[in-house]
Amino acid sequence: MAILEIPVRSYGTAHQGTFRNEPATDFGKSGIAREMRAALDRVRGQLGREYDLVIGGHRVRTAEKIHSLNPARPSQIVGIHQKAAKEQVEPAMTAALKAFESWSSTSLEERTGLLFRTGEILRERKFELMAWLVYEVSKNWAEADADIGETIDFCEFYAREALRLASHGRAPVQLPGEIDHFFYVPLGVGAVIPPWNFPCAIMAGMTLASIVCGNTVILKPSSDSPTIAAKFVEILEGAGMPEGVVNFCPGSGASFGDAVVAHPKTRYVAFTGSREVGLRINKVAADRAPGQIWIKRTILEMGGKDAMVVDADADLDSVADGVAAAAFGFQGQKCSACSRAIIDERVYDKFLERLKERVERITIGDPAANTNMGAVINEGSMNSILNYIEIGKREGRLITGGARATEAGDGYFIQPTVIADIQPGSKLEQEEIFGPVLVVIKSRNFEHGLEIANDTEFGLTGAVYTGSREKIELAMREFHVGNLYINRKCTGAIVGAHPFGGFNMSGTDSKAGGPDYLLLFTQAKSVGEKII
Ligand code: NAD
Repeated sequence: MAILEIPVRSYGTAHQGTFRNEPATDFGKSGIAREMRAALDRVRGQLGREYDLVIGGHRVRTAEKIHSLNPARPSQIVGIHQKAAKEQVEPAMTAALKAFESWSSTSLEERTGLLFRTGEILRERKFELMAWLVYEVSKNWAEADADIGETIDFCEFYAREALRLASHGRAPVQLPGEIDHFFYVPLGVGAVIPPWNFPCAIMAGMTLASIVCGNTVILKPSSDSPTIAAKFVEILEGAGMPEGVVNFCPGSGASFGDAVVAHPKTRYVAFTGSREVGLRINKVAADRAPGQIWIKRTILEMGGKDAMVVDADADLDSVADGVAAAAFGFQGQKCSACSRAIIDERVYDKFLERLKERVERITIGDPAANTNMGAVINEGSMNSILNYIEIGKREGRLITGGARATEAGDGYFIQPTVIADIQPGSKLEQEEIFGPVLVVIKSRNFEHGLEIANDTEFGLTGAVYTGSREKIELAMREFHVGNLYINRKCTGAIVGAHPFGGFNMSGTDSKAGGPDYLLLFTQAKSVGEKII
């Protein structure tokens, strides 16, 4: 049944109020920190359990397993997961296709109701879910809170967006003698392939957008963060999701992921991750498999090399705070992280002094104790980041950091690292490092700063600090990024306020959490009905 065919007023619950973002948890409030510590203790007692694939509602085990480890304590197993391989593609597709037959024609009320209920359960289990993120990906409390808060926002926002899409405000021009209809129908089975860095919000966001539009999903979470995805799928089931609507299949990207993307019955792929994998998916999806009767749609959100451009008149204390937060929050492992600070030469030295002082106050250690920074995701990533740091020491001037933070423990801890005097066009200035490494570049002036900022293949986020209205307008016109911020940091996009997605090699600019997003998960149908 088409989305439009259900009158909006039939959804007669209290949920129809306007969308409001989930407030941030105030850990400074009495009792809240205690509640978080209690959740960490409870979840610690559940580490190391085994989770099954969920295909068509059935629990499935495989011989090979994925071990999800705590990056801050790599000997601690967070969860043991099955490892879907090529043999699981067909059963998962069959289950998703079967569920599509009924799910695609359920009422809008039923689909949005599932999202609203999921949001409620997430809210009730917020502290527990935050604790899972602390252990599984080394987020500190505030970062974990933002991830779960964003997940709740996606439930509330996409449910309302589905209602809005169905509203009659989109009625087409009516020709005399005809009733002309225009409505959105689901696409089919989608492959949802998220990264590990917003392992709840991005994984859930692409899944929720899929199912609220009537699609069914094969969900392949990242092998670094399958446990939080298993918890989310449990919550969907608890909220009443029918069997087969989301099929939970952790597995290797290169075998299971690739094969799902290539399958002729996959109608679309919703992916967030690196540029390399995004481009590979684009290529595989573009090939027509035998029996395939559609052009697969790809929604691809990829990497960044995000810059903050600082004018000579900026308040340097506020800039140092913004740059430090955007460069080192969650260990610099956000696609939106500031990895380049481009500073007007007139304030360059003064800025470096302020930044060094600010960065050296950052605490590193096990995020269960709510340090500023935890560990980076895994050993491979740590080694790659340390390698970039060594190149940086040769190409520029090390201001602070520059090594593993061994004093923090045996986890994958890296000191927040600032390397100055990096030249535009150099390796460190161009490549996504995805860790706590900030390069600082000197510009002749604001306009030159924008030029440097634009001169990469990416175009995800960016920020400028300036008091000049003229320069703000220049940045709004010329700074070629999907998400631009003025006089504030370039991380921390909020659902609804900052629809998120990048230009150029940063992706297809899908604008998650925005008013156009659900259109990507539907196709529009036009019907001209002659009045007889
Ligand atoms: P990744 O590309 O290594 O993996 C992403 C997902 O793709 C994982 O689930 C992985 O298993 C899967 N995969 C790997 N090979 C595959 C294949 N051949 N076919 C199908 N699936 C395959 O990325 P990551 O390390 O998980 O995440 C970090 C990257 O994600 C960074 O580049 C970051 O900038 C980017 N990111 C972008 C956004 C955004 O909105 N633009 C948001 C978050 C992260």
